[in-house]
Amino acid sequence: MHEVKNPKKPLLFYYGLVLLILFLFNALAIPYIEEKSIKEVDYGTFMTMTENKEIGQVQVQDNQIVFTDKENETIYKTGVMNDPDLVNRLHKSGAEFTSEIIEEMSPFMAIFLNWILPLLIFTVIGQIMMKRVMDKAGGGKSSMMFGMGKSNAKVYVKSSEGIRFADVAGEDEAKENLTEIVDYLHNPGKYKEIGASMPKGILLVGPPGTGKTMLAKAVAGEANVPFFSMSGSEFVEMFVGMGASKVRDLFKQAKEKAPCIVFIDEIDAIGKKRDGQMGGNDEREQTLNQLLTEMDGFEGNTGVIILAATNRPESLDPALTRPGRFDRRVPVELPDLKGREEILKVHAKKIRIADDVDYNKIARMASGASGAELANIVNEAALRAVRDKRTYATQADMEESIETVIAGYQKKNAILTNKEKLVVSYHEIGHALVAAKQTNSAPVQKITIIPRTSGALGYTMQVEDGNHYLMTKEEIENKIATFTGGRAAEEVIFGSVTTGASNDIEQATRLARAMITRYGMSEDFDMVALETVNNQYLGGDTSLACSAETQAEIDRKVVELVRSQHEKAKTILRENRAKLDELAKFLYERETITGDEFMSILNHQDEIGS
Ligand code: ADP
Repeated sequence: MHEVKNPKKPLLFYYGLVLLILFLFNALAIPYIEEKSIKEVDYGTFMTMTENKEIGQVQVQDNQIVFTDKENETIYKTGVMNDPDLVNRLHKSGAEFTSEIIEEMSPFMAIFLNWILPLLIFTVIGQIMMKRVMDKAGGGKSSMMFGMGKSNAKVYVKSSEGIRFADVAGEDEAKENLTEIVDYLHNPGKYKEIGASMPKGILLVGPPGTGKTMLAKAVAGEANVPFFSMSGSEFVEMFVGMGASKVRDLFKQAKEKAPCIVFIDEIDAIGKKRDGQMGGNDEREQTLNQLLTEMDGFEGNTGVIILAATNRPESLDPALTRPGRFDRRVPVELPDLKGREEILKVHAKKIRIADDVDYNKIARMASGASGAELANIVNEAALRAVRDKRTYATQADMEESIETVIAGYQKKNAILTNKEKLVVSYHEIGHALVAAKQTNSAPVQKITIIPRTSGALGYTMQVEDGNHYLMTKEEIENKIATFTGGRAAEEVIFGSVTTGASNDIEQATRLARAMITRYGMSEDFDMVALETVNNQYLGGDTSLACSAETQAEIDRKVVELVRSQHEKAKTILRENRAKLDELAKFLYERETITGDEFMSILNHQDEIGS
C-alpha cells in the first residue's frame, strides 16, 4: 500500500497499475495454476502407472481417483472402476495412503484469487484516489465529502520580517487603538485580573489603500501570534451552507491556535444587511448567521481577536456591529499632511533617493492621496530615475511622479494646433488667476499645458498650505469660481467656448449641490438634509431625500450658485486682462511654469500697475 501513497502521481497512473496487475495475473498466474492442476487420464494408464510403481499418493473418492506421480509434480485423475483388487495392487506399488486430501485447488484459494484479491486491489486504489481528491480540496482530516467547506484561510505565522507598526506611517490614532490589542495578546493576565475583557472584533473602516490590511498584519507582527487572513468573498460559495461551514472551520482552527488574530478583509461581502428581499442571497445570509453565532460562541478572553476591514461600513448588518461582536470601530482615514510626509519617508527608505528631497512639499502637492497612492508615487519616481539612467531619484522625479499618478503620463506625440494650445493656455491661466486673486484660495504650484494620458490637455496644480478640516462657505464659493475660471477665460478672450471644461463643470456642480443639499448653506432650506451620502469611502454617491418640487428647487439653486461664481470669475479676469494675456503667453511659450514664476509675473505687474 505504501508504494502508491505518493499523491503527486496522476490518476491515470493508478488505473494503469490496476490493468497491469490484472494482466499479469491472467498471463502468468492462471496458466501456472492450470499447469499445476489436474490431468485427466484413462483407467488403463492409472493401472500401468501403478504396476510400474510410478505413483506417489492416491486418494480414492466416491466418483474419481486422484493420484500423483512419484515426484508429486503432476496430479492425475481418473474415473472409478469396479476393481476389488485395487487396494492390493496399490499396496504392492508402494503408493502412499495418506489422509491428506489432494485437491485440484482449494475452493477457498480459487475464490480468493478470482474475487477477493481483485476486490481488495480496487478498494485500496479507490481509497488512495479518494484521499488525493480530498487533499486537493483542502485537507485530509475533514470528514466532509471531498473537503468542501474547509476554510482554506491563509495562515501567516510569526516571521522576523513581518510587518510592524513602524512600517505603517501616520494613522497614529488607529495604531494607538490597536496597541492595546497587542498588549492584551502579550499579557492577557493583566486584563483578566481586573475583569476587563477585550473586544472580540475590531472593524477597520476607511477608504481603499489607507493601510487597513497593513495595520492588521502589523498587529499580528507586533504580538507575535499566528495571523489567519481571509477575504469575505472567499466565504461565499456556490452551494448553500458551504460558506457557513467555512466560517465554522476557520473559527475551529483559530481556537486551536489561540492566541491568534483572524483577519477578514472586505467583510461587507458577507456582512451586508439582511434585508429579506425576494431572491435574497441565502448562502450569504447563512454565512453571516454562522459568523454571528461563532462570534457569540467564544468567550471574550480566549485570545482570538477578529479584525475585519471594509470601506462600506454603512452597508454592514447592525447585528454584526453591535457590542459583543465587532464592538470597536477604528477609522483608518486618508492621511493628513504629516501622515503623507511620513508615508513618503517610509517608502523612500526602500529606494535610493537624493538627500535634499523636500518631503513636506511633495506631501503638500499630493493632497488627498492615500497611502497606496503615495507608495506608488515613490515607486514611479524610482522608475523615472532608472528611465533617465540615474542611480537615485530626485525631487524632480517625485514631483513628476505625482503628476503621473494624478494625471497619467505625458503624451509625447499629442499634436495640438497652435490655436488649441493657446486656448488651453488661457484656460489654465484662467483657473490660476481666479484662484490667486481670491484671497482664500490655495497658492498655485504648477501650471502645465502638456497633454497627459488621462486626457487632460493641461492642468493647474494647487497646493494646500496645511491641513483643512473645515471649509467656510466663502472658501467653497471661491473654489467653484476657480473651477469656472478656465471657461471664463475662454469666453473673455475668444468669445466662444470649448469642450475643455467638462471636468471643471462636474466638479463645480458637485460642490454647489453639496453646499445646498448637505451643508445647509442656502438660506431657503436652512439646516435640512436633502441628500444622504451612501458610501463615504467609495466615491461618495448620494441619494436625494426630498420631494420632486424640492428637487426642482435645488436644481434652480445650484444653477444660480454656479452662475454667480462664473460671473465673478469673468469679472476677475476682465479686471486683470493684461495679466491674463501676459501669463497665457508665457505659459504658451514655456508649456510648464511653476507657481513661483506665476506669482512673480503677477506681482511684478501689480507693482508696475500701482
Ligand atoms: P487597504 O487594506 O486599506 O485597502 P493596504 O493595507 O492593502 O490598504 O495598503 C496598500 C499598500 O499601500 C500597502 O502595501 C502599503 O505599501 C501602502 N500603504 C497604505 N497605507 C500606508 C501607511 N499608512 N504607511 C505605509 N504604507 C502604506
